[in-house]
Amino acid sequence: MAARSISEFIASLPKTEIHIHAEATVSFDSYFSLNRKYKADPGLKSPADFRKLLEMDSLGVMIKNFFYLQSLFRAPEDFSLVVSDVQAYAKRNNIHYMELFVAPSMVLKQGNIDFEGIMDPLVEGFARAAAAKDGPDIRLLVDVSRSFGKDNASRNFHHLLSYLSRRKTDRILGIGLGGQEMGNPCIAYKDVFREAREAGLHAVAHAGEEVGPESIRDAVLELGAERIGHGTSAIQDPSLMDLLRDRAIPLEICPTSNVVTGKYVRSFADHPMNAFLAHGILATLNTDDPVLFDVELNGEYLNAARHLLWKPSQIVKVLKNGIRGSFMDAAGKAAALARLDAQLPKPKA
Ligand SMILES: [Zn+2]
Repeated sequence: MAARSISEFIASLPKTEIHIHAEATVSFDSYFSLNRKYKADPGLKSPADFRKLLEMDSLGVMIKNFFYLQSLFRAPEDFSLVVSDVQAYAKRNNIHYMELFVAPSMVLKQGNIDFEGIMDPLVEGFARAAAAKDGPDIRLLVDVSRSFGKDNASRNFHHLLSYLSRRKTDRILGIGLGGQEMGNPCIAYKDVFREAREAGLHAVAHAGEEVGPESIRDAVLELGAERIGHGTSAIQDPSLMDLLRDRAIPLEICPTSNVVTGKYVRSFADHPMNAFLAHGILATLNTDDPVLFDVELNGEYLNAARHLLWKPSQIVKVLKNGIRGSFMDAAGKAAALARLDAQLPKPKA
């Protein structure tokens, strides 16, 4: 298929995305408006100045930039920018269903907004979006974070439990564990994950992004994580690859993110995604932080077609993995698979 037609083919297909962070999907225009509103950094004089945040070479620098962006959310109405920018991103990329991380730690630490002030605008905004004709179905996972220790993670989780006891909503699916993996073994978060599971919430964890396969094994066996964010280092351990396949644990793969943060993957073509797929692991394709990594989901599929040599059939397979690896119920998955099949070119008679 020619380059132009492959990109049109990708753009035409309905997609799901299950590893994407809300605050890193807000546009630099929106961040510039917050920066001006709060007179936060007078050195940033235009939306283009925010692009210097793209200059990073490690997960540590990425997380520092991410905290700076999060620090600009200082009033509940600021989160309406998340709702509008994430919806616009979904529309541009033909994304019908998304599971979106939101990380409250930094905002709560600043003390300007409480947990309701963060979640209400998101829950209400995305509920309105889903109710609109052809609106995207965007669900939330609260990133309890491993960057600030287990007490902070536990506090975030209990804010969520308390919120869910007062607000009836199906927009929030559960928790995630993001942030600095190095030096923060996931085992410290075992109690939070146990409580989340007991409360009937979904629980996922970033693992194997900058730490070896033991981090992934602990996330699956000790935390009971239902999905693994990244999981890149699994390629070093064939028995872990078997475990992920046999337990049908989906991997939320974000190749551009892995290349930019530079721990295990030197180039897109070097990414182990194809080996995971060949092993029978339910590997999905995602962007992680579109604004920080300057990549959107259509572009990431096009990158995979170019650098991982995906044929249209492989693109469709990974799109279906995204649906199967999501937390949609069985009827939702069947409808999403049918919608995708309906868009595929008909075989010639
Ligand atoms: Zn992530």
